[in-house]
This record gives sequence, structure tokens and C-alpha cells, in this order.
Amino acid sequence: MPDWVKLYHQMPYPLRTLVASARGYHLRSWRYGRKTELLIAEYLEHETWSMKQWRKWQEEKLAFLLHRAATQVPYYREQWNQRRRQGDRASWEYLENWPILSKDAVRSVPTQFIAEDRNIKNMYHEHTSGTTGKALDLWWSRETVQNWYALFEARCRLWHEVSRHDRWAILGGQLVTPVGQRRPPFWVWNAGLNQLYMSSYHLAPELISAYLDALCCYQVVYLWGYTSSLYSLAIEAIKQKRINIQMKVVLTNAEPLYDYQRSAIETAFNCPVRETYGMAEIAAAASECRHGQMHIWPEVGYVEVMNNDQTASPGVVGELICTGLLNMDMPLIRYQVGDEGSLSLLDNVCSCSRSLPLLGKVHGRVDDVLYAPDGRRVGRLDPVFKARLPVIEAQIIQETLDVIRVKVVPAVGFGAADTQDIILRIQQRLGAGMQVIVETVNEIPRTKAGKFKAVISKLPQ
Ligand SMILES: [Zn+2]
Repeated sequence: MPDWVKLYHQMPYPLRTLVASARGYHLRSWRYGRKTELLIAEYLEHETWSMKQWRKWQEEKLAFLLHRAATQVPYYREQWNQRRRQGDRASWEYLENWPILSKDAVRSVPTQFIAEDRNIKNMYHEHTSGTTGKALDLWWSRETVQNWYALFEARCRLWHEVSRHDRWAILGGQLVTPVGQRRPPFWVWNAGLNQLYMSSYHLAPELISAYLDALCCYQVVYLWGYTSSLYSLAIEAIKQKRINIQMKVVLTNAEPLYDYQRSAIETAFNCPVRETYGMAEIAAAASECRHGQMHIWPEVGYVEVMNNDQTASPGVVGELICTGLLNMDMPLIRYQVGDEGSLSLLDNVCSCSRSLPLLGKVHGRVDDVLYAPDGRRVGRLDPVFKARLPVIEAQIIQETLDVIRVKVVPAVGFGAADTQDIILRIQQRLGAGMQVIVETVNEIPRTKAGKFKAVISKLPQ
């Protein structure tokens, strides 16, 4: 755990609020600016465009992006030079002539993907572990950040009559409270973002009533977070017959939303539940409208569905291959986002009258849920590997209720201190009573379908 997190955990609550709020004001200055309201209005106006307008817009953006990538982005320029040397005369003007880009390629030489006319020092840096436990570094210009948050405001918040000025709560993967702590607060108020950041690691049945009290006390209007965490909160609220809390909407992210989860969360918070789809690489995004359809955000990316190297027809499930159109400074072209899904069979007609194209179901990667010895469900443990560790990849296996095995493919420099660090981080999230065995291995076996699983549970379901 980084020193500043340890220091933060030792602070009294009012001081933690100050630290979180200072971070929030900093993020706000990156995310919103003078153009924000104008951008939001523009994005809302796009939603009534005809298919013809969309096609023209995306074709123009793609043409610009492909040209920029092939001539100004070192990774792609070298790739094309090499093809030319081998006598390949294919044109870079056509997307289908570009190879599929893997996450590993971006991970191994991330700065090679940045356009030469950009200075990395002036860009927003995102370090993410994603769902595979493998770290990824991404850079966005201020313009890209502001475009993304204007889209988010329009299509995640305004569609459901909430805004960034409303008080909201987020259930996410940050350790805002030490896991061993058994007394509230299990959250921190971030004044810069109007946001109550709630821990996903304290959702034990006996602690849930404190969470529900906090939602009332902080006058929270809507919720956002990991589907599995929101579901844990909801089922306990129902069990404890505390279903009198009224939210305007609950928005889920990072994991697919199943019907049983939707119905529990709706019952608990007396409001609709809406699914969102996206990833840190912003190569594609989609969100659900009031009529229950997932609308793709064409400004963010061009989505292809591939099945056995062929383009899949609408309705057929395949791998999502996305070309990011929002971040022109670190272009990801035909990028393998790592999720499966399909385009909708419906002909882009939705009762909400928006013309944004429709996505079928996203199957995603569903990581198995882990259980703490005291019965808490912990949905995602990838933040364990979010901080920089000399680890190439890792897999967490729950053997029994109190034994966790971690398989680690070590990078150069991995040592005993890192092993201790991993044990500590898992115990911080699942309790000190959890036995954690760290094993170094040469590789992590893939599933039959060739998929990497970050988490495996051997507990009876
Ligand atoms: Zn709709």
C-alpha cells in the first residue's frame, strides 16, 4: 500500500474529507470548463441525428483518425513502414486494413501510442488495472477529458433528470476506510464532486444499516457503482425491511447487470436501475435509456463485433472490437476491449426517439464474487493490483471460505516484500482471518475459450 494511503487511513474523518475534497476540486478543474454547458447541449442535439448524418460524421472522424495515427503516432507509423518494406501496399485509409490491437501491445509500449504533437506532461494520466489484473497506462488531453465528462453528464445523468450538481454516492474500489474498521464511517464526503465515496469492502450484513443511514444523512439523490456492490447493499436493505429510501435513479457500471440484481436494487431504492457500459480506454461507451435499450455513444467509438475473424451480424454474439474516436491523441484502432456482446437486432428504433444506435446485451467478463469469512461479498479485487507492483499478471482463487490462493507471474524485481504486500492488501479487504497463499508461476492457464479469469471461486454457489 502506498505511504499516502497509510497516512490517509490514520487521519480523523474530518481531515479525510478535506483530503478527498481537495482531490475532488482538482478533478473537477480537469473535467469541467467554460465550454462544458455548450458541449452538453451539442451532444444532446446529436441524439436526434438521422442515420445518414451519423454515418457521415463517423466516416469523417475515422478518416482523420486513421491518417493521424499512420503519420503521427510512432507505434502505427512503424507498423505501416514495416508492412511497406515487406511489399504490402494496402491503404491505411480503410479500417479493415488495420490489424486487431491487443491490450498487451498497448501495455508494453504505452507512450508509443501518443501522437508526436502532444506533450505527455500536459496530459491527464490514468493508471488502471482493468479486469485482468494487468496494469494499463493511458493519457488524455484536457479537451478529451472535458468531452468525455460532457457526454457522461448528458447521457448518464441528464437522461435520468439528475446532474453533477446533485448529491450522489458512489460504491467503488477505492479503500476510503481501512478494512479492519468495524465502526462507521465507511465512506468519505468529496465536496469537490458532490460525492459520497462509499467503500465496497464493508458491505457486511451488520454494517449495512450504517450505509443506509449515511445515504439519508448526506441527502444523496442517486447512486452509481459496481453492480455487485449495489446488489449487496440492496439485498440487505430488503432483508432488514429498510426500503423507505427514495433515490431518483441507480446507475450501474463495470459489470453486467442481471435481472435479479436489477429487481432487488429497484425494490430497495424505489427507483429505476440503469446500466452503463464503458472502459478506461474510452474506445466505446453505451448507456441505457428509460425504455430499457442500451444506446451506443458514436462520438466515443466505432464498434465492430467479430466472430471467428468475420464481422458478426446483428444479434450474433462476438468479440467487441472498438476504435476510439474521442481520444485522438492516443488512438486505439480496432482495439480488443476484452468483452463479448452483440449489436441489436432492432433497427435503431427506440421509443425514446433517440437515433443513437443500439447495443444488444454485453456479456462482459463476469468475475466470480469472493466471500470474506464473516459472509461479506466482495465483488472485485482488482484494486489490489492497481498500485504499481512488479507483477505481469495475477489470478485470485478462493479455495475455501478462509483460504485464498494468489497466482502471480512475477516481473523483474518481484520479491518477498511484494508477497507480503499482496497478502496484506487482500487481508485488508477480506479480513485479517483470511489465509492468503501467494504462489509465483510462469503462466496463468486460460479457460477453454482462451479467456483469462482474474478471479475463480471454488466455493459451492
Ligand atoms: Zn432509447
